[in-house]
Amino acid sequence: MKNSGQGIVFDIKRYSIHDGPGIRTTIFLKGCPLKCEWCHNPESWNPEPEPIDRISRPKRFQKPYTEKQDLIGIEMSVNEVMEEILKDEIFYDESGGGATFSGGEPLCQTAFLTALLGACRERAIHTALDTSGEAPLKDLKAAARLADSILYDLKLMDNEAHKKFTGAGNRRILNNLRALDSQHPRITVRIPLIPQITDTKENLVAIRDFLLTLSIRRVDLLPYNRLGKAKYQRLHRTPAPDSAEPPSRPLEDIQRWFSDRGFEAATGG
Ligand code: SF4
Repeated sequence: MKNSGQGIVFDIKRYSIHDGPGIRTTIFLKGCPLKCEWCHNPESWNPEPEPIDRISRPKRFQKPYTEKQDLIGIEMSVNEVMEEILKDEIFYDESGGGATFSGGEPLCQTAFLTALLGACRERAIHTALDTSGEAPLKDLKAAARLADSILYDLKLMDNEAHKKFTGAGNRRILNNLRALDSQHPRITVRIPLIPQITDTKENLVAIRDFLLTLSIRRVDLLPYNRLGKAKYQRLHRTPAPDSAEPPSRPLEDIQRWFSDRGFEAATGG
């Protein structure tokens, strides 16, 4: 059994500019309760290290498993992750960046996550929590208390469509966001624009109208790309069939639906 000082990490990306302000180091923690059809990180789903076909020699965060496969995801301590984060401290200071905790769903490892957020706070490193919101509210609140900013995904307002495309309904996600809104002053809602699934006018206007009942006024619109499909094959999983559907509207129109109602609507992360 892992203690709060240990967790499973499946990637660390340095010099990220899409996961919060400035130049950041993004730490990807394993485990996710959702299974979004468009997920770029299917290797995050299983909370434990899992076999993945090798394409060359084992990479960082992978360990040899069989002749042709590695185990993706390695156990790291808080100190080891902090060593990685601190390598780029100078860039954070100059760019207003810091560390972002992502996944998967980082709240699948709440004890490890909060220990990391606390360690960053001790070093005055800015932190962002990138969450799907599909987690117990007490865990979300505990992590939010230590995080400088929250990146909160909203995908679909229709509960049945949410179940169909992510594997779970959206009630907890919406309720958690409502509860967090009164606790945290810096929440950005991130909306993946999946053609004809999440990017329809009906869905986006429903998200906007829900947010108008809260105080959150920052949204990031994330255009879809097909990166990550090869990983499904290497994990021996079947990806959802690629949709040939075009985006329902030009990005500028979507951005305007939000900005016209007082939102700061950015594209990309
Ligand atoms: S919440 Fe994120 S990591 Fe989890 S399945 Fe959806 S896209 Fe993938």
